[in-house]
Amino acid sequence: MTEERIDGSGGAGEAIELLRELIREGCVNDGTPSSGQEIRNVRVLQRFLADAIALGRIETQVLESAPGRASLVARVRGTDPDAPALGLLGHLDVVPVDPDGWTRNPFGGELIDGEVWGRGAVDMLYLTAAFACVLREVALAPRPPRGDLVLLAVADEEAGSDLGMHWLVREHPEAVRVTEALSESGGMRMGRHVAIEVAEKGSAGRRLVVRGKPGHASIPFGATSAAYRMGEVLQRLEAVMPAAQLGELWNAFVDARIDDSELAERLRDPVRLDAALPQLGGIAGYAHAVSRITISPTVVRAGAAHNVIPGSASIDLDIRTLPGTSDEEVDELIAAVLGPLADEVEIRRLRGWAATGSRSDTPLFAAIKRAIAEVADAPTVPIMAAGGSDARVLRELGIPAYGFGLLAPGWSYERYREGVHGNDERIDLTSIELSMAALRSIVSERIG
Ligand SMILES: [Zn+2]
Repeated sequence: MTEERIDGSGGAGEAIELLRELIREGCVNDGTPSSGQEIRNVRVLQRFLADAIALGRIETQVLESAPGRASLVARVRGTDPDAPALGLLGHLDVVPVDPDGWTRNPFGGELIDGEVWGRGAVDMLYLTAAFACVLREVALAPRPPRGDLVLLAVADEEAGSDLGMHWLVREHPEAVRVTEALSESGGMRMGRHVAIEVAEKGSAGRRLVVRGKPGHASIPFGATSAAYRMGEVLQRLEAVMPAAQLGELWNAFVDARIDDSELAERLRDPVRLDAALPQLGGIAGYAHAVSRITISPTVVRAGAAHNVIPGSASIDLDIRTLPGTSDEEVDELIAAVLGPLADEVEIRRLRGWAATGSRSDTPLFAAIKRAIAEVADAPTVPIMAAGGSDARVLRELGIPAYGFGLLAPGWSYERYREGVHGNDERIDLTSIELSMAALRSIVSERIG
């Protein structure tokens, strides 16, 4: 990458400026319905695309699920109805910041020493900006594409997508119709490989309810505080780790990331894996998470008044499942973890979603692999994400959806994880350039 290309034609100059504008709007989504106000970033994108819209090359729709919670759908029509309709799925919202933890203004969009700073720079405004730039290039090209290219610039990803993708596919299925899609969570380096998300874990939250015998706290004899029962349950949850369940994506991860063949062999063995985890350094948490169902107690409740022994208590569990895990299996796993305590615990199901995955033998995934080989001279490794993204909403409809991005060498998976939602979030211009180059290649192969 030369300096000239960074600001020159064919580079990423427009994407960089657009990214800075999107950051400055600060569409912070704190989970409350009136936060986010993504309409402001919709306006930024409308201005950016205005020339192509005026020429009739892009059809746009602004779809608002609640006041200010707007998403923009921008479609370049293809000439061949049988060609793929490629979706570029980027969210417009960002998570809140802790301003004390930042050394720069998190909403300044400053460009310092070759990096754009600000909340959302990595997650995922740099991609949303790159998607919009490539859409505009395709729209203004002398010849229209074969297939549709569709920018889905959406609200509310960071708070579960009820006011974004879930609402859009339910209320406006024709507007958001695509046959395949790229979204976030890709481009991190794993060894010499570039990681691309093809699957995401599911969520199967549970509330455990335990009961005791209430009484006045001044006369505890004869009463049984539910808080004691809760403590026993928590101790079991901490002591018992669900066993590893290894699949194809696990083996691909080990092959890509672990050079030491002896360590790799232990990691492929579900019995010896756990003892090997501490040797993995910064990637151990990811390896632990994607090799099993995880259970994390998050909210514990017992008692309402200082002088009353609580008769019941509850523990909410954040449980992340693997592809194919059923609700019954989750309940059985909890019972197994609780062991002798299981009979005393009521298990209630909280809202969740199934793990999703797209196959890695589709034409779109082949195009991603070719583009990464061409632009970064690196092989691609398909990975499972521990968390969730909007890609799953499309996968649930049977539409292949992959993470995208092509970050510069040095962007390990752990650096990416720390950058996302962390302090001093920022992205280098080389990563934006690489991502743009790979995206152009994919778009031209699939619909050009
Ligand atoms: Zn994101």
